[in-house]
Amino acid sequence: MMTSQSSGKQTSNFAPWFKSTWESLNLLNLPSAVLIHGQSGIGKFEFAIELAKAILCESAAPLSRPCNECEACHWFESANHPDFIALVPETHRKLLPHGDFDVEADSSKKSKAISSDSDGEASEKKEKKNISIEETRNAIEGLSIGTHRGGSRVILIYPLEMLRSDSANTLLKSLEEPPENTIFILLADRLDRVLPTIRSRCRLVSAPRPDRSTGLEWLRNQMALVPNSKFSSAEIESIYDEQGGAPYAVLQSLIARHHQDDKDELTIAIQASNNLLRAMSQGARIEWLDTAEKTQKARYSTLLSTMQRWTADLLSSAQMGHPRYYPKHEAAIQTLAKQARMPKLLNFWKSLVHARRHENHPLATRIQLEALLSQYQQIFED
Ligand SMILES: [Zn+2]
Repeated sequence: MMTSQSSGKQTSNFAPWFKSTWESLNLLNLPSAVLIHGQSGIGKFEFAIELAKAILCESAAPLSRPCNECEACHWFESANHPDFIALVPETHRKLLPHGDFDVEADSSKKSKAISSDSDGEASEKKEKKNISIEETRNAIEGLSIGTHRGGSRVILIYPLEMLRSDSANTLLKSLEEPPENTIFILLADRLDRVLPTIRSRCRLVSAPRPDRSTGLEWLRNQMALVPNSKFSSAEIESIYDEQGGAPYAVLQSLIARHHQDDKDELTIAIQASNNLLRAMSQGARIEWLDTAEKTQKARYSTLLSTMQRWTADLLSSAQMGHPRYYPKHEAAIQTLAKQARMPKLLNFWKSLVHARRHENHPLATRIQLEALLSQYQQIFED
């Protein structure tokens, strides 16, 4: 699970501000239904996962936390424990142990491909936010059968508010006559939206919200696990306050932005390099002002390395060699190599090498880009 590690997700742990909540639950004497409620994004799902794992743990010694070593713990971590049933909508599945990040990325790509005003996407989105009726029915019907491993069985439902009324009625029947060895862990962001008849049959557990400094400290630690995180401490702080102090929600949106920016930057770099190559292949006819304008959004270092490769290809072709970097443009490169004034071409190469030494200077880009491209044009003129 490299993806989940690198995105700072911890599947087998809960946030420090849940410590006393954990201690208040007696694992050896749990009621058949626990309803954990509280603000969205403070970590109650992660807490519930750890609780489910602890209930199913088969360690001989009575422990307060799952042992992470027994067979049951391994089954749980690999999302294969037969007595753990999670009824969560598709949008929340990535939070489960072994949640598949790639599947999530794929499905978001797919929904983006559909135009935003189409009804299809709206209903598809709505469907993804709901807990499947079929899954609920299958899960509840399966409760009459004994557990697979002869121990407990855990049914986790989140968000309980998203359970449709027919499914809620089925659930209610099971809560009235709890099947043997079965523990329901129910989660709700809004307790007032849960049916009172369901509420009254559960032990209510209020999920705590961390104080600002605890939440921020946790968030900074999580972000430190994200390779090349682009967010400063001050940025993290302002987003945290903006999102009402829900650390898990902030973490999710920071990671999403982190990946989004990567993608955007890559797209910009590719487009800029293509523009630059097209312009440079024009030789003396290059429209350097226009090219600088079109490519300036890309990193200066990216543009410089494209120019450097192109120039290296020109130099090697001028010396009867072949282009090494852009063989696709060999015809244009050969033609330009013949037109180039050698001393000017060598000077341009020196300018590029010099520019690369200062490429991280904040004032780089536009003006220097224009200067370099105009120098490039002069290579082909007397
Ligand atoms: Zn265990």
